Amino acid sequence: MAGRNHLYVPGPTNIPDSILSAMHVPMEDHRRPDFPALVTPLLEDLKKIFQTQTGQCFVFPATGTAGWEIALTNTLSPGDKVLSYRFGQFSHLWIDLAKRLGLDVEYTEVLWGQGIPLDHLEARLKADKNHEIKAVLACHNETATGVTNDLVAIRSAIDAANHPALYFIDGVSSIASIDFRMDAWKVDVALSGSQKGFMLPAGLALLCFSQKALAARQNAKCRRAFLDIQDHINANKDGFFPYTPSIPLLHGLRKSLDLLLEEGLGNVFARHARLAEGVRRAVKAWGLNLCAQDPKWYSNTVSAIVVPQGHDSRDVMHYAYKRYKLSLGAGLGDVLGKVFRIGHLGDLNELMLCSAIAGAEMALRDTGIQVTPGSGIAAACEYWRETAPAIPPR
Ligand code: PLP
Repeated sequence: MAGRNHLYVPGPTNIPDSILSAMHVPMEDHRRPDFPALVTPLLEDLKKIFQTQTGQCFVFPATGTAGWEIALTNTLSPGDKVLSYRFGQFSHLWIDLAKRLGLDVEYTEVLWGQGIPLDHLEARLKADKNHEIKAVLACHNETATGVTNDLVAIRSAIDAANHPALYFIDGVSSIASIDFRMDAWKVDVALSGSQKGFMLPAGLALLCFSQKALAARQNAKCRRAFLDIQDHINANKDGFFPYTPSIPLLHGLRKSLDLLLEEGLGNVFARHARLAEGVRRAVKAWGLNLCAQDPKWYSNTVSAIVVPQGHDSRDVMHYAYKRYKLSLGAGLGDVLGKVFRIGHLGDLNELMLCSAIAGAEMALRDTGIQVTPGSGIAAACEYWRETAPAIPPR
């Protein structure tokens, strides 16, 4: 079929041409004396994205899943109790990984479409008088359901309980797209992956550790080898890596940070918020519901859209891909067949997203879901037009 593919899964995201070009480099010696000129500023500038001055950033040749393991094994010991909530596929998988590492995971089931229940969290921490809970694991943006948690409120709940637990954040589908502040929100380990807001291929796990998390390493007995941050601390201080890094990805990351910082983080977040609202207007105009059950949880990076009873969201994805070359995000885990997702993060503007909305609209109708033709695209476009930045007349 002629024409390009339209990629609107919530990661991997579209890669700007300038990043693709930046990655197109001949191989270099990663032990050459001037290699630190690439690495040291990368690690420094990454701190700006995590919004930290006191934290330390790490870049692993890995993905977000390894980021979960890096956070846990570098700070905890087998049998340590960690507190979490299961409210989507990714919070589920982090819990599963923590269990497999031998941690004592206490978790509560939450309806998929809701976020972390703050009252429950605060009450549980207050009840933990002996401070057996060593860490709270929170998925900032649950990519499977399009639910964003309020990290300030979670921090407040921990503080209200006066609890010393470490605060761990999965920011795979939020960091570099939705406001995230390592220092201001007193986060201890935050992790992300390269293939979402950073607009790169998968292949880098990007992390930030607070000083408290770095100190926790001294007593952390979890087995770690390849994912031990100590090896990175030793090598990074001189601008190197403990093993062969993916050099194209490092050049891509350089360009990604340049683009994000040039646009300005505040503008990046505002762009994502505005694009997301357009998608939500389209969903409303179709007469469909989001999986996220309350506006306070609406995600600015992904919308999970519930198909009406009697329909299977896999059909929507099937028609979208086969007829219109549009990749939509699948329903995962408990919401398999019930939702499809539009990823609206990364290198994106209004007219790019129009292809996702128009394609989804056609695929919905192909599936027999009677949305009014043109309703979604009209609602989104009108919102974007009305909120477009003012420009001087010609
Ligand atoms: N956490 C969240 C919120 C995610 O969305 C994903 C992947 O989509 C992961 C973790 C796992 O990351 P990866 O697939 O890079 O291992």
